[in-house]
Amino acid sequence: MAETAVRPSDAELAELNARFETAPAEAIVEWAIERFGDGLAVGASFGGISGMAILHMVAARKPDVFVFVLDTDYLFEETYETMRRAVRELGLTNVHVFKPKLSHEEQARRYGAALWMRDPDLCCEIRKVEPNRRALAGRTAWVAGLRRDQSEGRASVPIVAWNEKFGVVKINPLANWTEQQTWAYIVRHGVPYNPLLDRGYSSIGCYNCTVPGLPGRAGRWQGFQKDECGLHT
Ligand code: SF4
Repeated sequence: MAETAVRPSDAELAELNARFETAPAEAIVEWAIERFGDGLAVGASFGGISGMAILHMVAARKPDVFVFVLDTDYLFEETYETMRRAVRELGLTNVHVFKPKLSHEEQARRYGAALWMRDPDLCCEIRKVEPNRRALAGRTAWVAGLRRDQSEGRASVPIVAWNEKFGVVKINPLANWTEQQTWAYIVRHGVPYNPLLDRGYSSIGCYNCTVPGLPGRAGRWQGFQKDECGLHT
């Protein structure tokens, strides 16, 4: 059912952020479920551990939460495997895959081969940002797994904010968690995660733009001044 998202006031956002800064992530997730109900969406990449921890936290409380996956056509086979495992093991019942409007071949015909090597921002716009817009249409809130320790650009990410780009309230319950805390959660709860993380990859996106052996998000978009696909900026 399509709903219209309502922008919280600045005062309300300030109060929520102050309160949630010291709250357990699980309490933030519970607030989000209570406040937004079926309007809540969880974006899942099945790449990093934060997203998997979030999926586990939400699914334990609301297994029918609307989960959306952006399938760019360039995902690692291990990412699809992780998705299948997560659906099974976390009991997710409402997972939707969004594909780009252009197939790989159509994109190559229109923009030339290997667009990601020449204009990764345009490639990400076509294969991630536009599908993300469709995924969030009619939703009121979006839960994501951003952490402040992931990159300089994410160092001041708020826990709750109005996201103008997609017209929803965006919630990052793990904003102030560290990588170590997140791994501890994954291990403690036996949450499935992408096996590439055990093979030297720190951040996993499309195989065209991801290399192993570099910390944080440094292995993404090698050779470009870019460490975000445009979903979180
Ligand atoms: S991560 Fe790379 S291949 Fe994937 S959409 Fe962005 S530029 Fe294209």
